[in-house]
Amino acid sequence: MKLFPIFADLKNRQVLVVGGGAVAERKTLALLEAAADVVVGAPELTPALTALAADGRIRYLPGRFDPAWLDDVWLVVAATDDRSANATVSDAASARRIFANVVDDPELSSFQVPSIVDRSPVIVAISSSGVAPVLARRVRERIESLFDHTLGQLAALAATYRKRIRASHPDLGARRRFYDWLLDGPVAGFLRQQQPAQAEAALSDALDTPIAPADGSVVLVGAGPGDPGLLTLKALRALNEADVILYDRLVSDDIMSLARRDADRVPVGKLPGENHHATQARIHALLVEHAQAGRRVVRLKGGDAFIFGRGGEELEYLRAHGVRYEVVPGITAALACAAYAGIPLTHREHAQSVRLITAHCREDEDNLDWPALAREKQTLAFYMGVGQLDLLTRRLLNHGRSAQTPFALIENGSRPEQRVLSGTLEALPRLAAEHGIHSPALLIVGEVAGLAPKLQWFGQHLEGR
Ligand code: SAH
Repeated sequence: MKLFPIFADLKNRQVLVVGGGAVAERKTLALLEAAADVVVGAPELTPALTALAADGRIRYLPGRFDPAWLDDVWLVVAATDDRSANATVSDAASARRIFANVVDDPELSSFQVPSIVDRSPVIVAISSSGVAPVLARRVRERIESLFDHTLGQLAALAATYRKRIRASHPDLGARRRFYDWLLDGPVAGFLRQQQPAQAEAALSDALDTPIAPADGSVVLVGAGPGDPGLLTLKALRALNEADVILYDRLVSDDIMSLARRDADRVPVGKLPGENHHATQARIHALLVEHAQAGRRVVRLKGGDAFIFGRGGEELEYLRAHGVRYEVVPGITAALACAAYAGIPLTHREHAQSVRLITAHCREDEDNLDWPALAREKQTLAFYMGVGQLDLLTRRLLNHGRSAQTPFALIENGSRPEQRVLSGTLEALPRLAAEHGIHSPALLIVGEVAGLAPKLQWFGQHLEGR
């Protein structure tokens, strides 16, 4: 290890910032946040620094660097845009054994300022020892996404209750388990749901019942259409905290690879020959079984769980069995496919509304209002429609939709192998067959689909005639 990490308490300690530009301003603000007594020395100051000096929040030393500026200083930051001036500061500081940081210049610095993830009172500091700041920034991004902003609140709550926790859990092992429960259980859950009073009540209740019961829960997570970049931060976090992940067939491998390594992965897609009803009943039973065993269960679904995802049924079942749950929305196929095919779902000239439709065209299941669907200036997004393009097209045409209405059929939307087939409604079934379009594919019908050839930017684009 080349650098020794420390967290410095700068409260009321004098720190000198040399330089009066934008960089010096940023450093000054950061130091003020740590309650340091900041002195800024420079020939001139930015307006913001000038205002801070006028308010008495910093002290201003006008002019060029003078070693006497270091007299009562604990640390110095050199932030001028002149390397030799910075070197002078750094040398003078070294001569007096004062730690100096020269911004973006590890060679001249005797201490470096890490990138941080701030969940005060918890602070994560990241350093690449000055050799790869871009990498450090990446690490920071990843860590940012792992801990939501309630971590600080949780730590503060734990600090408030520290004595009581110690008193009620004198044994170290029990205390550890209690802290695990605090971080993973309902207290953290309430904070995430922005209910601090309930969080505190749950903590206080738990202290009255000496042993915290194992408390499982389910997070219903929308995984989006396939591109892992379309996961939400909350989804990623849930995947990183999971003990068990029950996932659908539509969830991509790329996304599964982001999950916590130790998590059990249970595929719960429809088994060959099994009917939907049996599959769903099996999923319900598994969810409850794992949660009741005290595990953190993630129920991971393609797209969004509440759009043709049976998420509602699963929550009803969990509610009936007293299992705690949260829901994390995902980007549904219609939104993703449209975006990745260059199709604005609404458009001032072409469409004032969008409908998300599941295409079960079997006579006995078809409750759709076809005359309404056939009206123009609206966008139709059909899920699960590849098998029934023939019927779909005939229904729309029979109810008066123009044969020239543009369509776009998006296969594997947002994934590297995405294909977009576009053309006019009358030719849809033929073109889809010619190009061998397979599930998962989403059908968009409406004037806006005509924009795809012009606005497309991702994947392979096929224009059919
Ligand atoms: N809950 C999911 C939809 C499940 S229904 C969501 O919100 O997206 C399954 C149907 O979704 C598929 O038959 C297909 O029509 C559509 N679909 C899901 N992912 C897709 C993708 N990556 N590309 C195209 N269509 C997709």
